[in-house]
Amino acid sequence: MINVINPADGSVIGQTPMMSAVVVAAAIDRTCEAFPGWAQKTAKERSDVLRRWYDLVRADKRVFAEIMVQENGKCLNEALGEIDYGLGFIEWYAEEAKRVYGDTLPSHYPHGSVLVIKEPVGPTASITPWNFPFMMITRKIATALAAGCTMIIKPAEETPLTAWKLLEYAREAGIPEGVFEMVTGDAKAIGEAFTSDPRIHKVSFTGSTRVGKLLAANCGAALKKMTLELGGNAPFIVFDDATLDDAVTGLVNAKLRNSGQVCISPNRVFIQDGIYDAFIARLVAAVSKIRVDQGMQDEFVVGPLINQPALEKVVELVDDAVSLGATIRLGGKLDAKGGLFYQPTILCDVEDSFKIHNTEIFGPVFAAYRFKTEEEVIRRANNTEYGLVAYSWTTDLGRAFRLSKQLEAGMVIMNSGSVGTASVPFGGIKHSGYGREGGHYGIEEYVQVKYVLMSGQ
Ligand code: ADP
Repeated sequence: MINVINPADGSVIGQTPMMSAVVVAAAIDRTCEAFPGWAQKTAKERSDVLRRWYDLVRADKRVFAEIMVQENGKCLNEALGEIDYGLGFIEWYAEEAKRVYGDTLPSHYPHGSVLVIKEPVGPTASITPWNFPFMMITRKIATALAAGCTMIIKPAEETPLTAWKLLEYAREAGIPEGVFEMVTGDAKAIGEAFTSDPRIHKVSFTGSTRVGKLLAANCGAALKKMTLELGGNAPFIVFDDATLDDAVTGLVNAKLRNSGQVCISPNRVFIQDGIYDAFIARLVAAVSKIRVDQGMQDEFVVGPLINQPALEKVVELVDDAVSLGATIRLGGKLDAKGGLFYQPTILCDVEDSFKIHNTEIFGPVFAAYRFKTEEEVIRRANNTEYGLVAYSWTTDLGRAFRLSKQLEAGMVIMNSGSVGTASVPFGGIKHSGYGREGGHYGIEEYVQVKYVLMSGQ
């Protein structure tokens, strides 16, 4: 058994099985054996069970939220927000299941017909991270099941309790064994079992770029389709003409969500010269009002980091930046609460050559850079191997369009700090991965196109 730890106080709140290779193999077998039956169901039948799952979970949001607070550390209202976000995918794909349309094309034969149909890719597997223990599961499972695929999931061992609860509700809703399977244990061995099994036709992974590349190499050997949602290094660019208070609010919400442990968290805040000081003053005022605490409360609080290595990484990045000349405008230390709590921190005078510029911080740290021109900031924003999301604030319409084209990212967010919802294509470019999750784009990842010629001769 693997202990599940509450990062707010170090207590053991549950366990998840350390499954043997034999148990994992049996679960993969069930996933593969269930595929033909599930694929042959009508779209309406698949839609109905997804909808039942949605209704059951929706009626018990608080049950899920409390588990999430305990195993992840995020506060209650964030957990409830994540549940609404995650339920959105089940609802969306219950509907989308019925709209996996094909095509008919003009034929190259006088009496012929050309049909293009979409079929589920087959049994699939996925591996999910701990930062969104609910939404990551529903986003992948709902899409796969809607398309007619079966899926086996390995959730993060840090946050498996939310995942098991989701499975329990799925069974109650009528999603059978095999169609949705789950395993926990040795992540590396499970990853190898998923990627090496020739019957698994697609792997969806959200997590670090390092692990994503390992899995992609294995999948490449077997030519398996993949969706990879990996690390980010999001620029958050504020121009002189931005509405400052809105930009501050957008930044604080985007950055402090989940204590900064989010792949789309603003990692580099670029502020134009003319408003740099005014912006930082407002940011300091806004962040100073936010408390650090364990998450079982109604107000928004910044919770603990997930574990000791995560905390040490943040400490090291901040100390390194300060040793090279960055100045601390707020925080900069472990919080007085001790344990895994780190103070919300605002670092000014950060330079592009510092380690923090090229590293996903994954903590409540705002790293602020100064810039002069649009051309300069686009070049600096793109100077990273990642390309998940880029945020920008400006009231100049022409500039907004130029930025939307020139920023190298899968998602460009103008004048907002909010990115994800069920209807949009979420995903990155460069080392942030490939493939999209959400909306009608998401389901395309789980179907293959078949061309049928009826020659009519
Ligand atoms: P993070 O830094 O967010 O924990 P990881 O990429 O390490 O990112 O973890 C994301 C998911 O990948 C988790 O479910 C974890 O258990 C899993 N994982 C970690 N290492 C491996 C591996 N070598 N093979 C397969 N999965 C892995």
